[in-house]
Amino acid sequence: MNTKEKDKNYIMHTYGRYNVALKQGKGCTAYDEDGKRYLDVSSGIGVNSLGYCDEGWVEAVSRQAAEIQHMSNYFYCKQASDLAEKLCTLTGFSKVCFANSGAEANECAIKVARKYSFDKYGAGRNEIISLRDSFHGRTVTTLSATGQDAFHNYFFPFTEGFKYANADIESIRKELSDKTCAVLIECVQGEGGVNILDKDFVQQLRALCDERDIVLIVDEVQTGIGRTGKLFCYENFEIQPDLVTSAKGLGGGLPIGACLCTEKLGEVMQPSTHGSTFAANPVVCAGANYVLGKVADKDFLDEVNSKGEYLREKLLALDGVKSVRNLGLMVGIELTDKDAHDVAARCVENGLLIITAKSLLRMLPPLNISYSELDEAVEILEKTLKEN
Ligand SMILES: *Cc1c(COP(=O)(O)O)cnc(C)c1O
Repeated sequence: MNTKEKDKNYIMHTYGRYNVALKQGKGCTAYDEDGKRYLDVSSGIGVNSLGYCDEGWVEAVSRQAAEIQHMSNYFYCKQASDLAEKLCTLTGFSKVCFANSGAEANECAIKVARKYSFDKYGAGRNEIISLRDSFHGRTVTTLSATGQDAFHNYFFPFTEGFKYANADIESIRKELSDKTCAVLIECVQGEGGVNILDKDFVQQLRALCDERDIVLIVDEVQTGIGRTGKLFCYENFEIQPDLVTSAKGLGGGLPIGACLCTEKLGEVMQPSTHGSTFAANPVVCAGANYVLGKVADKDFLDEVNSKGEYLREKLLALDGVKSVRNLGLMVGIELTDKDAHDVAARCVENGLLIITAKSLLRMLPPLNISYSELDEAVEILEKTLKEN
């Protein structure tokens, strides 16, 4: 049996896959098992922030794997402490809790928000408002937090205490009550269709949460770590959240999640209130330390913005493109008439790895993609849009 046959036989069918088995990669280029070359503007859904097998990242990870690969959370770990210090120093947050994925980072944020409220106001003030078209993960609780009916099926009973609002302040006010302890948002909804929230709304929401001592959680699992031209996307909205979650791009290709909190929330979690066997793994943290060392740099982030602008202009000039929504290199492309899923599959056949978000094409290229690679991506898309 080859890779695809074994997958079909032995892996649960939770994914619709493109007809490609990737074997290796370098930078923005990947090769499949037959040696066919692909330009990748998906980064494994925004995970490979520095592309495939960045030299310094490979070195950092390999060196750490050869030194000590895991030690459990009963022991101190330099790579994890260094990473936590970097994250806090760069953002002004006070403490970090590590996890292994975006969903887990969100689980942690939800627990911190609920416990903060429990400690201060007692039982019952535990409701969390999230937004329609959001996506927060696949665990039973983060499915509950996800504001899309399509995700609330089969797995009943879901975690209680979630309410859904539209991305406007009146809608939030309607769902707000004495029981509300937190509001959870993505500043740009990724899976929901690259929807950029209105800046006034986000600022009004911040003020409203302050007024009522409601914890504002910003899910930056997709938008964080330079993706939108800032280290974290909330900076574009000029607010400071109480809790921020990070994952996808943070490890540069290895699984990691992080939940960052302000000083006010720093002591909410205590021994035995939360934990994870694998979290804060030294190899993974070594990769993340390397990624942050590259990405948390003003010139690097300005380049992400410039490349985003450049890409948007080029995409807007294509026949068949109706509109483009982007913040930095988080890019949604609305097509005039063609089906985005068909076009994405054709792009892959034509050597461009691209993904979708709802009815849009979506690009999340490596943050260090070159201008000529962006040109090539647009050329392949243009050619694909001309086919029928
Ligand atoms: C991908 C994503 C998640 C889930 O992350 P996993 O690592 O798949 O658990 C949560 N929130 C947002 C905004 C995401 O884009």
